Amino acid sequence: MSLFYAMFFIAFTIISIVVVVTIIRTFIRSNMKDTNGDGKIDANDFINGINIQFNNINQNNETEKPKTKKCPYCDSIVKDDVFVCPNCGANLGN
Ligand SMILES: [Zn+2]
Repeated sequence: MSLFYAMFFIAFTIISIVVVVTIIRTFIRSNMKDTNGDGKIDANDFINGINIQFNNINQNNETEKPKTKKCPYCDSIVKDDVFVCPNCGANLGN
């Protein structure tokens, strides 16, 4: 009976590894292109693909933040695209 459990454990481990590797390969390949233009996809393109993936994640985080600026007259934080400070009414030019 313990042999059965051992075989089940080994099979489960192998299947888990295959599933994880497949997911990672799909994740990387979705952004893998011939980025250095040498006509083949090699290790350099593999690294570039990972970098592009992380850059996209960083850019998404930055675009979600609303841009703000500080009013020089009352020190309140206001949206970057306003012309008049909503707190003190000062003209922020822009
Ligand atoms: Zn102000």
